[in-house]
Amino acid sequence: MGGETRAQKGPRSDYPLQAPRPVGQMITNIYRDRINQLTAGGQYDRHNLNALMNEAVVSGEPHVQLSVWHAPGQTRPSFKEATSHEFNRTNVGEWFGPSWTTHWFKVVLNVPSDLRDKRLLELHWDANNEGLIWNEHGHPLQGLTGGNERVEWILPDSFRDGEEHVIYIEMACNGMFGNAPGGDSIQPPDPNRYFRLDRAEIVAVDPDARQLHIDYWIIGDAAREFPQDSWEQHKALKTCNEILEAFDVNKRESLKVCRKIAESYLGSHINSSKVYDSGKEPVVFGIGHCHIDSCWLWPFAETKRKVARSWSNQCDLMDRYPELHFACSQAQQYKWLKELYPSVFHRVKKKVAEGRFHPIGGSWVEHDTNMPSGESLVRQFLYGQRFYESNFGSRCQTFWLPDTFGYSSQLPQLCRLAGMSRFLTQKLSWNNINRFPHTTFNWVALDGTQVICHMPPSETYTAEAHFGDVKRSMSQHKSLDQDATSLLVFGKGDGGGGPTWQHLEKLRRCRGVSDTVGMLPRVHLGNSVDDFFDKLERKADSFVTWYGELYFELHRGTYTTQSNNKRNNRKSEIVLRDLELLATVASIRDASYKYPKKEFDTMWEMVLLCQFHDCLPGSSIEMAVHESMEMYAQVFKIAESIFKDVSVVLGVSRVQTTTVVDGIALNTLPWHRKEVIDIDENEAAVACGNGLLLKLRTLKTSQDDGLVSAKQASKGVFVLENSQLRVRVEGGVITSLYDRQAEREIIPKGQKANQYVLFDDKPLYWQAWDVEVYHLDTRKPLHSGETKIHEIKRHRVSLITHTKISDKSSINTIITLGAAVEGQQSYVEVASTVEWHETMKFLKVEFPVDIRNTEANYETQFGIVRRPTHYNTSWDMAKFEVCSHRFADLSEHGYGVSILNDSKYGFATAGNVMRLSLLRSPKAPDAHADMGTHHIRWGILPHQGALSHVTVRKAFEFNNPLKFLSATARSSSTTSLLELARPPVYLTEDSSPALILDTVKRGEDDEDVSRGELPAKEGRSVILRIYDSLGGRARGTVATSWDVSRVCKVNLLEDELEEVVFTEGKFAVDLRAFEVATFKLQLA
Ligand SMILES: [Zn+2]
Repeated sequence: MGGETRAQKGPRSDYPLQAPRPVGQMITNIYRDRINQLTAGGQYDRHNLNALMNEAVVSGEPHVQLSVWHAPGQTRPSFKEATSHEFNRTNVGEWFGPSWTTHWFKVVLNVPSDLRDKRLLELHWDANNEGLIWNEHGHPLQGLTGGNERVEWILPDSFRDGEEHVIYIEMACNGMFGNAPGGDSIQPPDPNRYFRLDRAEIVAVDPDARQLHIDYWIIGDAAREFPQDSWEQHKALKTCNEILEAFDVNKRESLKVCRKIAESYLGSHINSSKVYDSGKEPVVFGIGHCHIDSCWLWPFAETKRKVARSWSNQCDLMDRYPELHFACSQAQQYKWLKELYPSVFHRVKKKVAEGRFHPIGGSWVEHDTNMPSGESLVRQFLYGQRFYESNFGSRCQTFWLPDTFGYSSQLPQLCRLAGMSRFLTQKLSWNNINRFPHTTFNWVALDGTQVICHMPPSETYTAEAHFGDVKRSMSQHKSLDQDATSLLVFGKGDGGGGPTWQHLEKLRRCRGVSDTVGMLPRVHLGNSVDDFFDKLERKADSFVTWYGELYFELHRGTYTTQSNNKRNNRKSEIVLRDLELLATVASIRDASYKYPKKEFDTMWEMVLLCQFHDCLPGSSIEMAVHESMEMYAQVFKIAESIFKDVSVVLGVSRVQTTTVVDGIALNTLPWHRKEVIDIDENEAAVACGNGLLLKLRTLKTSQDDGLVSAKQASKGVFVLENSQLRVRVEGGVITSLYDRQAEREIIPKGQKANQYVLFDDKPLYWQAWDVEVYHLDTRKPLHSGETKIHEIKRHRVSLITHTKISDKSSINTIITLGAAVEGQQSYVEVASTVEWHETMKFLKVEFPVDIRNTEANYETQFGIVRRPTHYNTSWDMAKFEVCSHRFADLSEHGYGVSILNDSKYGFATAGNVMRLSLLRSPKAPDAHADMGTHHIRWGILPHQGALSHVTVRKAFEFNNPLKFLSATARSSSTTSLLELARPPVYLTEDSSPALILDTVKRGEDDEDVSRGELPAKEGRSVILRIYDSLGGRARGTVATSWDVSRVCKVNLLEDELEEVVFTEGKFAVDLRAFEVATFKLQLA
C-alpha cells in the first residue's frame, strides 16, 4: 500500500462531536391523526386552512338581489313561460316547496368595487336541492346541486364592470336522490318537503388555499392509505407535518410556501393538464361519467332536467380542464336534450365533434336485460345506434350498462350484430354470495359469440376520484395475469351532474404522486373508453372466458315487483310484433297503405324507455310507475288505430259476428295452427291453417262431443278428462295429472300441484329489489275453499276455486281443460284473479312433478338457459330465484313438464318442485306497489320427449291466442281470402321446427318508410329475423310469395353482410345453435 496521492474520502469534517439535543422519532399514529387539523371543521376551523379559503364574501342587497316566481302545482314551465311572470322579492333563509314544485329566481348581481380585481369570483348558491342557472337570454349555463355537492358558478369577467347583471336560477324541489324523508333514500317520497335557501353570495376565492386543500387531501390519503412498511407512506406523513408547520393562518403568503412543500410529493406539474404529459406508461384510465337514472326516486319528467343540468356542467368543465373526457349513455336522454334544450344539445354536439364528449352504449336507455324480449333487445340497439349515427355521425362500439341487474346470455351475440365488440358493467361487484372472479375477460353468448367485458376494479361507476379509487383500480384487479389496465369511471351520478373540478384536481395529484413518488397506480386522463378497449382488443385472445349469463346475485325480486309493468311490457312486445307483421303485409299488398313508421317509432321508444333498469324491474317510486302506465296506455291506443287501418287492407274487422260463416281467425304466428276458439258464449269453432287468416269450421256435435268432461268424483273432488289428460282436483289443488297417451302420472304421490304458497319477504335492505334466500324458510301453503264446476262446454270444462290469503287478500282460480286437438299437445290452463293487499309477502304457485334432472330449462331471449335445480355449491344456491320468459321446463330423458305463463318472469326449480313467482308486496320505494287486482294465466304442459319445439310453440301460442274477427266483404271474395290463407313468407314444412321466424318488418330506410334520420334507400324491403330456439344446428327454407329480387343476410342495424342465393321464391337458412339471423328481402 502506500504511494497514494488521492485524497481519501473521510468523515464529514463538520459533523459535531457531541449530540446537541435529543431528536425523537415521529410517533406514527399521533402524527397521522394530526393531519386532519389543517382542514377539519370544529375547534380549529377558524385557525386552519378553512379560514383562508375565501378572500371576501358578500351577500344580500345591493350586491345580490333575489326575486322569485313560483310555478303552479308540479308544473315544470319553460324559461320563456317562467320569465314572463312577475317576480317577487325574496331572501336567503326563505323556505321553498313542497316536494316536486319549481321556483324560478331572478338573481341580480353587482360585484362590489373592492372585489373587482380578485383572482377568482364565484356565485355560491345552496338550497339543498337541484337547480339550473340560465343567462338572461334563456340559455342554460350550468347545473347546481345543493348540500355542498356542486354550489359554485364562476362569474364571467364581464360581471366585473360595476354594473348589474341578471341570471335566472330554476330551482327543483328535490334532492339529488328525490324526496325521501329522513336518511333512508329508498323510502317513499315525502310529499311535503321544503328547502331552505342557505346561501346566495358572491365569493372571492383564494385559489392558493383551494389548491393547497386538494394537495393536502391527496398527500394525507397517501399517509393514511399507503402501507406503513413503505417509505412512500412515511414520506407522505412527513410532508403533511411539514405543511402543517409552515402554515400560518395570519399570513396568506404561507399558502405558497405550503404548496411548494407539497410539490416534493406531488411534483411540479400538477397545476395543469400537463401533468399527464410525462410519457410514463399509465395503467388506470379515468373517464368522466354521470350515471343518470331515466327514472328512479324521481319521475321521468325530472330526469329531462337532470340531463340538461348535468351535461351543461360538463361542457363548462371541459373548457377549463382539457384532460376531461366524458362518456354518457342513453340515446333517449340525448333526444330529450335535443327537443327541450336545443342550445345545450348544440354545445354537447360541438364537444362530441371535438372528441371530448362521448356518446356511449349504443342502446336507447340503460335497460334491464333480464325481462325484455329478444326483439326488444334488438330494438334497444337499433334505436340507440340509429340515433347516435344520425345525430353525431357515428355509432357506438361499447355497450355500457354499469348499473343493470344482471346480463342475459345472448347479449354478446346481439352486441356484435349491432356493431359493438365491447361491454362495460360493474354491478356484479354487488353480488352478496359469490365474488365474480374476473375484471377483464371474453364474455361468450349461447351461440359462441364473444365480446370483451371489463368491470372497473374500483367497483363503482360514480367514483369520487379519491386516492383510494385509484389505488383499488390495481389492488382489486382480478385479471392481472392477462392485463393490468383498468377504467376508472368517475363523476357524481343522477342529480350530482358528473365530474366536479375537485375530481379533476384530485386526479392530477394522483398522477403527480405516481410520477414523483410512485407506488400509486399511474392514472391517465385524456383518452376515450374506445381508446381503452382498443388496447385490450389487441390482446383479447389471451383473456379468460365466461360462458353464458352474468347472473346477478342480488335484486332477484325485480323479476316480480310491479307486475302491471311486466304485463304491459309483454303485451306491448306482442302487439308490436303482430302489427309490424300485418302492416308489412298490408303495405306490400296495397301501395296506398302507408307503413306507419312514425307510430311504430313512438310505440317502440315508449316501450324501450319503460325497460329502463329502474322501471321494468319495479324499483322506482309510484310517480314513475304512473308515468309508465300512461305510456303503455298510449302504446295500446296507437296499436288500436294501426290495427284499424291494417284491417281495412286485410279485409277483416273487429265488428262482432256470431256466425262461423262470417268469421275468420287472425293468426300472426309462423306455423300451422289448429285450435278451438270461442265464437260466443254458446258456440266454438276449429281454426286450422298456417296463413294470416284461418278459416273456421263449426265444432261438430257428432264428432266432437264428449271430447272433454268434468265430473265430481266425491265431495270436493273433481276429475277433468280429455283424450290426452286426466286431471284430479282435490281441495282446489291438482293431486293427479295423468298423461293417458304416455300412461304416466306427473304429480308425485301425495303431492299437490297448482298449490299457492306464501312467503315472508323482508330482504336485508332493498325492498322492491331483493328477495333474500331465507324467505324460502318461511313457506306457508294456502288452503283453498270450496271448488265448483265453472263451465261445462263441448270444447272446454273448468272448475273454480276461491282461496283466502288473508282478511284482505284472496284468489279466484279457474282450472280449465280444453278438448284435445289431434296432433296438438293438450295442457291444463289456469287463470287466476288475485285481490292483493299484503305487506312484505311473496305469493308463488308450486308444481311438484315426477321428473328428475339436476338442471332445468328457462326460456330467455332467442334461446334457452339451463340452471341448476340443486344447491350443491354457493354458485348453484345463489340462483334460488331466476328469470324466465314464456316458459320454464323440467325434463328428464323421454319426458318433461313445461310451465307456461302470460306475464311473469320470476321462477325457481328446487329438486322436482317448479315454482312460478306471482306477486310481491314491498313498501319501498313505492308504498303501494302491486296492491289491487291482478289477472294471471299459466299453463301446465306435460310432453313426451325432451324439451322441444312443442313447448316453444305452445308458449308462443299461449301468449298470442288466435283472434276471432269478422271477414268484411272484401276478403270474402275468394281470391283475397285464399291469398291470405297462405302466409306471404314462411319456413317450409321440411324446415327444422327449432327455427322461429320471429320478426317481420319493413326496412328502416326504405324510401316509402324512412323518416329521414338516415339516407333513404331505393325500393322496398322486408326484414326477417329468424333464430334457432333449441340450441342445435338448424336448417330450413324460407319461401315467399312476394316479388323478391334479391336476399341478403344483414345485421341488426340492417347493414348488408352477405348475399343469399334466392331462386324460385326460396332461400336456404342454416343456423348454428342459438344463432340469431336477420335477412333482408329486397322487393322487385
Ligand atoms: Zn341506475
